[in-house]
Amino acid sequence: MATGKINVSVENIFPLIKKFLYSDHEIFLRELVSNGTDATLKLKHLISIGEAKVEYGNPIIEVKVDKEGKKIHIIDQGLGMTADEVEKYINQVAFSGAEEFLDKYKDSAKDSGIIGHFGLGFYSAFMVAEKVEIITKSYKDEPAAHWTCDGSPEFTLVPADKTSRGTEIILHIAEDSLEFLDDSKISGLLNKYNKFMPIPIKFGTRTETLPKPEDAPEDYINETVETDNIINNPNPAWTKQPSELSDEDYKNFYRELYPMQFEDPLFHIHLNVDYPFNLTGILYFPKLGSDMQIQKDKIQLYQNQVYVTDNVEGIVPEFLTMLKGVIDSPDIPLNVSRSGLQADGAVKKISNYITRKVADKLKALFNENRADFEEKWNDIKIVLEYGMLSEDKFYEKAGAFVLYPTVDNTYFTLEELKEKLKENQTDKDGKLVVLYAGNKDAQHSYIEAAKDKGYEVLLLDSPIISHLIQKIENDNAGVTFVRVDSDHIDNLIKKDENTISKLSEEEKATLKTSLEAYIPKAYSVQLEAMDSQAAPFIITQPEFMRRMKEMSQTGGGMFGMGNMPEMYNLVVNTNSDLASNILNTEDKTHQEHLVKQALDLAKLSQNLLKGEALTAFVKRSFEMIK
Ligand code: ADP
Repeated sequence: MATGKINVSVENIFPLIKKFLYSDHEIFLRELVSNGTDATLKLKHLISIGEAKVEYGNPIIEVKVDKEGKKIHIIDQGLGMTADEVEKYINQVAFSGAEEFLDKYKDSAKDSGIIGHFGLGFYSAFMVAEKVEIITKSYKDEPAAHWTCDGSPEFTLVPADKTSRGTEIILHIAEDSLEFLDDSKISGLLNKYNKFMPIPIKFGTRTETLPKPEDAPEDYINETVETDNIINNPNPAWTKQPSELSDEDYKNFYRELYPMQFEDPLFHIHLNVDYPFNLTGILYFPKLGSDMQIQKDKIQLYQNQVYVTDNVEGIVPEFLTMLKGVIDSPDIPLNVSRSGLQADGAVKKISNYITRKVADKLKALFNENRADFEEKWNDIKIVLEYGMLSEDKFYEKAGAFVLYPTVDNTYFTLEELKEKLKENQTDKDGKLVVLYAGNKDAQHSYIEAAKDKGYEVLLLDSPIISHLIQKIENDNAGVTFVRVDSDHIDNLIKKDENTISKLSEEEKATLKTSLEAYIPKAYSVQLEAMDSQAAPFIITQPEFMRRMKEMSQTGGGMFGMGNMPEMYNLVVNTNSDLASNILNTEDKTHQEHLVKQALDLAKLSQNLLKGEALTAFVKRSFEMIK
């Protein structure tokens, strides 16, 4: 029997490992299954180049839990190790890796800056085990070896009688880690980390019912067989070529990724690049609506089909973190802090590539089937609009597919919209006026008034729209966006004929004084000579003020704007019968009545009449029609 002392400077590194990596104990299983996978793939390679002259067969990796014995076994049929190799790879390589790791991270491992997952390797077994055995038989014609270590630097290495090729790792689970002897715990971990690993992983067996033979008698009882319970899909969709996959395959893979998600994705984007970095993956656009809340099922990051994390911040541009799917890349450094990741040149390239690829795909979808794209618009707009705001590269490409829908569901690109507005929607300075509504119900009367005049009214209802409008105006000097209720429509859009005022200047001054006597200070009164059919009283909210306020509420706006008082204009049509009526009413009480009732009606149409004021209004109106 050979015994020895592992060459480490720290007397006992295992308690340290436990202490520093406490929250990540569960990754031991991922690491050991990964080692088994690597050993199997290495053997496959050696056979393919003629280096190993053995039968590859159909190797699997088996995970077994022995509750009574308090052991977990991880068994592979890979290339195995000779005693010399155990000495070299386990005693020297693995443990020097352990030491190096501790040196590097003992100060920082506790702060959450480190990505929770790094190649810890073999020694992560000691996070849950008080003793570890390796029984291994190389594909080479050499005796099997049996290595045992109890977490101190001492180990034993003796010959073993294992005859089948491969490696069995036996973990003697420590008292404080007995939870890992739970079948459901282990299958949960395998499902999380190993679901798409390239070698089949067996955990237990399951009973399968065989199909009924054709000539079976009526009282035939179906036969059952025990089969290996394989927990993974070794050939996930993202490892295949897009040409091999149908739409249905992509949808099926989505369901495999998110079994609890019942709605199909809107479309997918297959990522596939091997230069200047390696990256594959599939991103899905789920139905989002205008809901910007953080998604529960996030994009999953893999490294060579091994699950790493679902925190892809920094790797995927922020606006795309609302998507779902997988990204697999061996080129993403996993053992650096988040801030280091963001500064990493390769990672920046990956993020730019994803942005570009997504923009190209959207453009293609738009060009291939515009009607379908329009139909999906409401569910994807939030991602695209956010992308335009946050990524210049995306913004540059977005003109080709970003849509501006009208309240009646006609969809324009910005260029198409400009063409359309040239006809009859310009202001006094010749700028194109984009009229929009933020809410079809709340601004209904204003929308109708604008439509009656033959104007196009967009429906822009995303929470971040004010920021986007601001940006588009900055980049398109001849375009101005105004919400339908931000001024009277006739003031917004230049008209050829000028409506003659029925009232003289003197009468107007008198009317204004009377109005201001009864109207709250928050309203500034504005007299306009308009078509006598136009509403007599209209409340408007200046575009600029309202937009700044909205922008500060959704972030990035001007400082302090959130606390600004609401400011409104009361536009009074001096050509309306009501205006004349108010002017000509001698009885002050009656005049006040008229003004207040008219103001309430205008408020009502802007959704501003609430609570006590609304109750009083309703009561007063009933009185009037009694
Ligand atoms: P890494 O896998 O990152 O190289 P590990 O500490 O996990 O580091 O393993 C060290 C070495 O031990 C591996 O490189 C490999 O040569 C050997 N090894 C570990 N597990 C196995 C296994 N199941 N079969 C064959 N060799 C293994």
